Amino acid sequence: MEPGALNDLRFVGARRRLIEQIRAKGIEDLDLLQLFDQVPRHLFVPEGVRTRAYEDAPLPIGYGQTVSQPSLQALLLQILEPTPQDRVLEIGTGSGYLTALLALAAERVYSVERVRELSTRARFALDAIGLANVALMVGDGSIGWRKFAPYDVITVSAASPSVPRALTDQLADRGRLLLPVGTRRAQTLVLIRREGDRLVRESLEQRCTFVPLLGRYGWGEEEEPGSRRPR
Ligand code: SAM
Repeated sequence: MEPGALNDLRFVGARRRLIEQIRAKGIEDLDLLQLFDQVPRHLFVPEGVRTRAYEDAPLPIGYGQTVSQPSLQALLLQILEPTPQDRVLEIGTGSGYLTALLALAAERVYSVERVRELSTRARFALDAIGLANVALMVGDGSIGWRKFAPYDVITVSAASPSVPRALTDQLADRGRLLLPVGTRRAQTLVLIRREGDRLVRESLEQRCTFVPLLGRYGWGEEEEPGSRRPR
């Protein structure tokens, strides 16, 4: 980690206030809240939005992409319950912020991003805070990362038109897959649990708007005009 990065006095208070905001949204698990205290979000966002790093808001990270709202990421972690024994596949590395939270909670994280420049920046930030249990790949995450499957947890940070079979195939027994499913403009979170050969699907109440998952089992490259601001 950059000397003093985590304790940079300009950000310590802001980070504590963010944690209070996340708690106020019903996330009470102290171990989970602690993760947000350990990851300096300001190192994961571009210079131009650094002063806003600890707002509970999505922020632009370039290339038309965003880092999601922290309270939404806390909710994803609360649902997925990663443990120190878990191997995690993340689709949509983006800034690498959620990757870092997952890496602190789990044994190892494998994360796939389609935009090379974002993956490079994420690697830089992850190295800066000394997280060595993360493997990054540039490619189409809608097909997963078969080489290291199966995974105990799979999380997709981009909106999918359906649940890609390639991802459920890479889920370990008792594994959890969480992804936003719906149209390009609005989705709900879907949780899939593998119980042996059976997949149990649960649609959660949470409505959300993520950037689209582009790729073989996602959407095509063409952008729709006037889509709502993604999280
Ligand atoms: N969790 C990320 C963070 O903490 O910054 C936010 C990710 S952003 C909402 C979604 C990311 O998914 C974008 O960086 C986008 O480029 C990526 N993405 C979209 N389709 C993808 C695909 N098929 N494979 C890999 N990444 C993809």
